[in-house]
Amino acid sequence: MLARTARRQFRPENLASLTRSFSSTAPARADFTHVVIGGGVVGLAISRALSQRTSSTLLLERHTQIGTETSSRNSEVIHAGLYYGSDSLKTRLCISGRQALYKFCEEYKVPYAKVGKWVVAQDDAQRETLERIHRTCKDEIGVPTRWVGKEEARREEPCVTADSGVLESPETGIVDSHSLMATLHGHFEEEGGFAVLNSTVVGIEPLNSTSGSLPGSGGWRLRVLDAQTNTESDITTETIINSAGLGAAEVHNMIVPPERRTKLYYAKGNYFSYASSKPKVRRLIYPVAAPGAGGLGTHLTLDLSGRMRFGPDVEWVDSPDQLSINASRLPDAITEIKKYLPEIDTTALAPDYAGIRPKLRPASARGFVDFYIRKEDGYEGWVNLLGIESPGLTSSLAIGDLVRDIFYASGKVEGSPPLQ
Ligand SMILES: Cc1cc2nc3c(=O)[nH]c(=O)nc-3n(C[C@H](O)[C@H](O)[C@H](O)COP(=O)(O)OP(=O)(O)OC[C@H]3O[C@@H](n4cnc5c(N)ncnc54)[C@H](O)[C@@H]3O)c2cc1C
Repeated sequence: MLARTARRQFRPENLASLTRSFSSTAPARADFTHVVIGGGVVGLAISRALSQRTSSTLLLERHTQIGTETSSRNSEVIHAGLYYGSDSLKTRLCISGRQALYKFCEEYKVPYAKVGKWVVAQDDAQRETLERIHRTCKDEIGVPTRWVGKEEARREEPCVTADSGVLESPETGIVDSHSLMATLHGHFEEEGGFAVLNSTVVGIEPLNSTSGSLPGSGGWRLRVLDAQTNTESDITTETIINSAGLGAAEVHNMIVPPERRTKLYYAKGNYFSYASSKPKVRRLIYPVAAPGAGGLGTHLTLDLSGRMRFGPDVEWVDSPDQLSINASRLPDAITEIKKYLPEIDTTALAPDYAGIRPKLRPASARGFVDFYIRKEDGYEGWVNLLGIESPGLTSSLAIGDLVRDIFYASGKVEGSPPLQ
C-alpha cells in the first residue's frame, strides 16, 4: 500500500529548493524528507506545518483512520493555560496553541465555542490553590482570570456549589476535535503531503553517512507493516518525527541503545454521559485538582450542542490497550460531581468512553511533568515527542510550529531538556 501509493507520487525535485538547518548527506537517496509517525492531532499538525516547507512529508498511522486514539478520547477543551506554571513548555505551547487554534477555527470553519470555565473551590486549601493560579496567570503568564462574586455566581449558575470561591477563565473553550483533525489532514494533503493509514512502524534504523558520523546523518530506514496485507516494506527518509502518542516509547526504544530506553505510564480517564438537560449549566465547571492527581478532576464539560458530560477520572492501568470504559468507576464519579453539582440526576449518568494519558512518570511520582519535545541528542534528524498529554489538543498547532522550527529556523530552537 505504502510503496504503491505514497512513494510512486513522491516528487524528489522538491528537495532541491529547500533551505534547512538539519544536515544530511542522503537527500538524493531518501524516499521522503520527513516521516511523521502517528496520525493523531499532534502528528497531523506537525505534518501540516512541515508540508508548508516541503511536499515530501509522509505521515504513517497504524489504524484505518486518523485520530482514533487519544485525540478523539478527550474533553475537547481549548485550555487557557492556567495550570502549568510560569516557565514550562506546556504553558508556552498551550497559550500560543490556544491563540492559534481560535484563529484557525474561525478561518477554516472548525466548530468551536469560547464558552468559558469556572474553577470552583469548596474549602480554604482549594481557595489557596486558586489564589496561586490567579497570581501566576496575572503576574507571570498573562492569562486572563477573574474572581466571580457570590451574588454573580448564584445568579449565573444557581445549581453550582462553590463554597470558597469561583475563578473564571474566559479564554477557555471547546472544539470539535474530529473536524479539527479532518481540516489539518486536508491541508496537509493539499500541500502535497501523504497520509498513509494501516501502516505500523515496526522497525527503525538510523543510517550513518560516513563511519564515525552521527546515526541518522545518512537518513533513516523504516520498516512498515501494512495491516491490510500483513506485508512489510522498507522506506527511507532524511528525518523522522516520533509523534506516536501511547506508542511513542515503543518507537523511541526501536532506535536507542538499551541504556537509553524509556517507558510510559498510563492514566486512563473514564467519561460519563448525561441524558438530562437539568440542572442547567452554561459553562465548563472544574473542581480544584488535588496535587499530584494525574488529571484536572472529574469536571463538567459541554459539547457543541450544549450537552453535558462528566470526566475524566484517573485510573492507572498497565497497558495502553485498556481503552474500554470502566463502568465500576461511576459511584466515585458521582461523589466528585455532587460536590459542585448536588442536584445532578444520577439516573441520567451512563458510562460513555475512556481515553488514556501517556505519562512520563508513574502514579507515585509527585510534581509537575512537562511535555518532552526535542531533537534527540546523539542522532541527526530525529525529533522525539513523549508524554503529550493534556493540553496537547490545545497546543497542537503550536507544537507543529515548534517542530517545523527545530528543522528549519535559522537559529537554534530550544525544546525540552534531555530525558532524565
Ligand atoms: C482523558 C483525556 C482528556 C484530555 N483532555 C484534553 C483537553 O480537554 N484539552 C486538551 O488540550 N488536551 C486534552 N487531552 C490531551 C490530548 O488529547 C492529547 O494531548 C492529544 O490528543 C495527543 O495527540 P497525539 O497526536 O500526540 O496522540 P494520539 O492521538 O494518541 O495519536 C498518536 C497516533 O500514533 C499512532 N501510532 C502509535 N504507534 C504507532 C506506530 N508504531 N506506527 C504508526 N502509528 C502509530 C496511534 O495509532 C495514534 O493514532 C486529554 C487527554 C486525555 C487522555
